[in-house]
Amino acid sequence: MAAISAPRGTRDILPEESWKWSYIVQTAGETMKNFGFSEIHLPIFEHTELFSRGVGETTDIVEKEMYTFEDRGGRSITLRPEATAGVMRAAIENNLCVQGASAKLWNWGPMFRHERPQKGRYRQFYQIDAECLGISNAMADVEIISLSIEIFRRLGLKNLEVVINSVGCEKCRPVYRQKLIEYFETRKQDLCETCLARLDRNPLRILDCKKEVCGQIADGAPDIFDSLCDECREHFAEVRAGLERLGFAYTLNKRLVRGLDYYTKTAYEILSGDLGAQNAVAGGGRYDNLSSAVGGNKIPGVGFACGLDRIMLVMEEQGCSFGKMPETEVYVAALDDSARGAAQILTHELRKNKISATSDTSGKSFKAQMKNAGSCKFACIIGADELANDTVAVKNLRDSSQVSVPMNDAVSYIQKNLN
Ligand code: AMP
Repeated sequence: MAAISAPRGTRDILPEESWKWSYIVQTAGETMKNFGFSEIHLPIFEHTELFSRGVGETTDIVEKEMYTFEDRGGRSITLRPEATAGVMRAAIENNLCVQGASAKLWNWGPMFRHERPQKGRYRQFYQIDAECLGISNAMADVEIISLSIEIFRRLGLKNLEVVINSVGCEKCRPVYRQKLIEYFETRKQDLCETCLARLDRNPLRILDCKKEVCGQIADGAPDIFDSLCDECREHFAEVRAGLERLGFAYTLNKRLVRGLDYYTKTAYEILSGDLGAQNAVAGGGRYDNLSSAVGGNKIPGVGFACGLDRIMLVMEEQGCSFGKMPETEVYVAALDDSARGAAQILTHELRKNKISATSDTSGKSFKAQMKNAGSCKFACIIGADELANDTVAVKNLRDSSQVSVPMNDAVSYIQKNLN
């Protein structure tokens, strides 16, 4: 029988990589805590409607990328393609934002999109996500953007660019949408097939088409800033002023519209110069209409998601530090079979005292055990002499020095000498 492989677009995060992932998530989590964000855990699957109504029927995600299936009860279920809609659902369902209350929430985990896999793009990928719900003030947008920048600063990422735009609101966007349709109609014959299909359904998305011809056409499109209503214009000016106050450099990109319908006002991305085609490490913005789209009262929100897989790629590329690789500190070796029981007991005692320790469980020879001890700091060796004297030989594997220690003092001796 042929061996079964992982589905296309998924991958295993093996031990040599997983500790680096933990470092990233831990660093992000500490930063979130410093910014007053609390962690939440959400379901990985939701009712399909949450995404079709929240993310938007005409988006790439909903039109062609969702993992949707009928469960055994005949309900349409979707593996979450992004986190924001689920966070909003949870906030509404659990009354987190009633009577003017706000909630600052973060989470991380796998997301699923049926995209064409390539470097930095997977079908199961991981996001770290932060959402600030219940605040419509531009200060919240600045806080979200600065939170994402601070996470990357702590991780040591360099060569990043913050790109921002305003995509307007339900008042001014329809006017802009109409202007875009009129403009693109005049260049219809030159647009790519995807953009042609987007023309009536979602003309804003033509602005971020990566094809060269469409890009050139989009460059000549009407400027969104000319269509923004006073409120959106003011909001955007406040976001910019806030970023400048904190000393953050950013670029304006009027063609940044992002792939999800729920964005209003601020949209932003953080791009890495070291990622090639899939160059966004984080994306986010404001979504004041998402709550009503998914059936709740109006709860304004702003947030971001960053791609863990891509952060990994950039950090490896730039030689960033992941802290110290966790390793087993003590190997307890039995010189002969009579000492295996004592080795097992000592290993257990060390572990109970939060010292990482291991010993052989497969009947290996002493020589083979010592070979396995290679990367540890200490080997605790027990043979007939040690059993007779109730001692243990503690060998420092860094400098090969060895001392005999009473068995009862073994744990405290190791504790004292580990650092
Ligand atoms: P989005 O939810 O599309 O705004 O994406 C937010 C971030 O998630 C992006 O900036 C990427 O870092 C990451 N991301 C999105 N899609 C993928 C994917 N298919 N594979 C890996 N990372 C992704």
